[in-house]
This record gives sequence, structure tokens and C-alpha cells, in this order.
Amino acid sequence: MRLENTVSKQASDQLEIESGSRTLKAKAERLEDILSEREIHIAELEEALASRNCDVSELEAKLRTEETTRRRLHNTVQELKGNIRVFCRVRPLVGEEKAMAGALPLSFPECEEKNEIELSQSSENALGKTTARAFPFKFDRVFAPDSTQDLVFDEVSQLIQSALDGYPVCIFAYGQTGSGKTHTMQGPDAITSARPERKILGIIPRAVQQIYDNTSKLAERGWEYTLEGQFLEIYNETLQDLLVPAGHSAQQGGDRQARLEIYQDSEGHTRVKNITTVAVDSAERVHWLLARAAENRTVAATNCNERSSRSHSVFTLYLRGKNMLTGESSSGVLNLIDLAGSERLSSSGSKGDRLKETQAINKSLSSLGDVIAALAKGSRHVPYRNSKLTHLLQESLGGNSKTLMFVCVNPSPASAQESLCSLQFATKVNSCQIGTAKRQAAA
Ligand code: ADP
Ligand code: MG
Repeated sequence: MRLENTVSKQASDQLEIESGSRTLKAKAERLEDILSEREIHIAELEEALASRNCDVSELEAKLRTEETTRRRLHNTVQELKGNIRVFCRVRPLVGEEKAMAGALPLSFPECEEKNEIELSQSSENALGKTTARAFPFKFDRVFAPDSTQDLVFDEVSQLIQSALDGYPVCIFAYGQTGSGKTHTMQGPDAITSARPERKILGIIPRAVQQIYDNTSKLAERGWEYTLEGQFLEIYNETLQDLLVPAGHSAQQGGDRQARLEIYQDSEGHTRVKNITTVAVDSAERVHWLLARAAENRTVAATNCNERSSRSHSVFTLYLRGKNMLTGESSSGVLNLIDLAGSERLSSSGSKGDRLKETQAINKSLSSLGDVIAALAKGSRHVPYRNSKLTHLLQESLGGNSKTLMFVCVNPSPASAQESLCSLQFATKVNSCQIGTAKRQAAA
């Protein structure tokens, strides 16, 4: 009986084992099917991936050629707009002027291009009769007093792009003292914060920011850039380094200027010997740089504002790019210049240092006008060497360079006569359209 029981238990165990093994086998077969399905799927994915990779490198190559094409087209557009452009910017009335100002001498005729401005001047004749005379002007663009820094920079940013693409670019601010030159180039008087509010910033910090944003995008297309900045001042026809480290300034000032010298490097580029150059390795770096320049200026002069109104300050950024993938390279330079006040300085009454300063300013501003005029006429001889300013900027004026002049205007009635002079100077520059398109037609 016991044996029978055992046998029957074993038989049932056997059945159980057999059925178990059948289930396992079935399971194994199912798994095998799944596995081979997966394998097929993986092979398919690998194939798809390979073809995507192929697409990506094709796209990358396409992107690189498109970048080259973009550079060419961008330059053509800039040349068609003219390699020398003049923008007029009228600042708003500030502080006490608001109360004092009567009817403003400036008006802005409605026009689609927003490029017209009219100055009216009333004068009294011998019989005591007042007559008003209107002087209309037309530039490439006119910015009325309500124009924001944002709006102004929108119009400038294309030229910053040209510098990045490897062209020499000069942007000048011209105008009498207090007309808004420094506001346009840098921003409000002293930016002390390391991260100032964007809306107040002028062209220099915005330009550097734009260059940064662009170089990181261009990195995807194989471009690598190095940026180097220098900041100098031309005072009485001598160059002064505005970036020397703190503590090196006051006493050693004399040595410092004597050491600065304009020369041509082995590649024929105009450079300044012994100047401090700073690697502009972040967009914030430029605020530090502007602050140091302001500090050095204060050390150099008892009255900083007066000093800056009588000297030209030149911020220069060298942009060197190399494309590791295509082997292309580019070398651009961006000069941003805050000129000395253009108020007509009469030499009479000035003596000694003042007379020397006055003569230096008159000479360099008129040299700048002469150089631009000579370029426009296509003269063989361009008198770059007549002033330190034009000598320094030789490479960035003429040829394939791009020049933009802001003529800054103070809107108050008391400045009407000076404003008229500024607008007339700017008109002289503006009639010098030396767009390459024109030059080719003439040849
Ligand atoms: P400049 O450098 O030509 O001597 P500033 O740039 O110092 O002139 O400007 C003179 C004054 O006018 C400054 O107080 C400046 O802040 C102010 N100012 C200039 N332009 C503007 C503007 N567009 N909006 C508001 N204030 C301005
Ligand atoms: Mg200024």
C-alpha cells in the first residue's frame, strides 16, 4: 500500500515536472522570439542611426557653407548701404534745461526713412525785424530725443557683425561737449555695477555682448575666436594708455606716454607699441575695463569731465577667428571712438596749455574730415599722418572698412549755433558715400 502510494505520488510528481518543463520550454521559446525580434529592431535602429549621422554631418557641412555665404551676403548689403554712414542723434533735454528751454530749434519732419531733421534759427535784422531761417538736413538715419539705447543699437549691430566677419569697423561720436557722445558710446556717466541694467548701456558694452552671443553660435560651425581689447586716449597729440594697472598711473604717467608708439606689425596692421591689451574673455569683462579706464582718467586729471571733453578716447577690440573645420580665418577690428568736444574753440584768448589743447583738437577733428573727404574723392594721397587719431585708425578708414559717425546734438536753444555747425560738418562727411558699389561703377 505504501509502495503504491509512493509510486502514484512519483507519477504525479513526474507529470508535474514534465508540465513544468514544457512551460519553461515554451517560455524559453517565447523569449528567444522576443530576443530575435529585438535584435532585428536594434539592427534597424543602428541602420537608422548611421543614416542620421550621415545627415548630421551633411547638415553641418551645409551650415558651414551657409555661414560663408551669409558673410558674403552680409558684406554686400553693408557695402550697398555705403561704407561711410552718418547717423544723427538728438538727446532729450536734461535737468534744468527742461525748465529753461523755450521753443526748440529742432524738428523732425515726418518721413518713412526717419532720416530728416530741420534746424530753425531766428535772427534779428538791423530794423529789429525777426526772421527765421530753416536748415534742413538729411542723414542715413536721424534719432529723435525719445530714441532708446535699444533702438540706436539695433541700427549699429550690423556693423558689429561685420567686425566679427573680419572687417575693420570704426564708430565715432562727434558733437559738442554735453551733446550725448559718452552716453551713446558707453552709457550713463559711471557704470559701477558689474551687471548693470541692459537698457541703459551704450554701444561699447552692447557690442561686446553681441560678439559673445555670436561667437558661441559660430563655435557650432567650427569658428573659434580670441578677443583682445585696448583703450587709449589721445590728448594733445600724445597717446595715453587707459588700462594700465592701478598704481602705475600718476607718477609714471610721463614714461607711459613716451613708451606708446604707433607702428605697423609684420602683417601690416597698425598697432600701438607697449599698450596694455586685455583678453576680453567674458561679456562682463568690458564693465571692468570701462571702470578701469574711468579710474585712470580721474587720476590723470583734476576735472575728469573737462579732460574727456578735450581728448579723444579710442576703445579697440581685435577679433581673430579661425575655423578648424574649413581652415578659413578672419581678423577684424572694432574701434569705438568718443571724440573731443567739437565746440568751435577760438584760439584768441587762450594761452599756454589751453592754446595747445585747442589747436590739437581743431587739428585732429579737421584731419578726420580731410581723410574722409580724400577717401571719398578716391585721392591717391590720403592724409592719414596729419593727426595721431587718423594715423592710429589708418587701417580702419577706407579700403573695405566700415565707418559710422554719430553726430550728437544738444536740443536746447542755447546750443542752436553749435548744433548747426555739427550738422554741417556731418553733412560734409555724409556726402562722401564711398560705397564699393559706387566705386565699381566709376571704375
Ligand atoms: P558728451 O559726452 O557729449 O559730453 P554726455 O554723454 O556726457 O555728453 O551727455 C551729457 C548729459 O546728457 C549727461 O548727463 C547724460 O547722461 C545726458 N544724456 C545724453 N544723452 C542722453 C539720452 N539719450 N537720454 C538721456 N540722457 C542723456
Ligand atoms: Mg563725454
